[in-house]
Amino acid sequence: MNNCSVYPLSQAVKGAGGKTGNWRTVKPVIDLEKCSGCLLCWIFCPEACIGKNDRSIDYTYCKGCGICETECPKKAIVMVKEEGK
Ligand code: SF4
Ligand code: SF4
Repeated sequence: MNNCSVYPLSQAVKGAGGKTGNWRTVKPVIDLEKCSGCLLCWIFCPEACIGKNDRSIDYTYCKGCGICETECPKKAIVMVKEEGK
């Protein structure tokens, strides 16, 4: 269990930018074998679309910015090109 006491201020919802998943040309894929559960990706994701408990990604709102990949200290996240984009 992680002792992190920081919680995101928002949840992934459709806002002025629409469903931000439509912006994506690359998507993050998490290798849970490498993941230490530090939750930095969950904290830094600007769309609040990474699941705290299971690191699942809500691709409806993930815009493919790659911040999670940059912040992951375990290199457990890789950005993969979306097919057809
Ligand atoms: S690519 Fe950006 S929007 Fe998508 S999960 Fe990572 S930090 Fe969040
Ligand atoms: S930042 Fe990387 S190691 Fe930390 S919870 Fe996310 S995927 Fe796992």
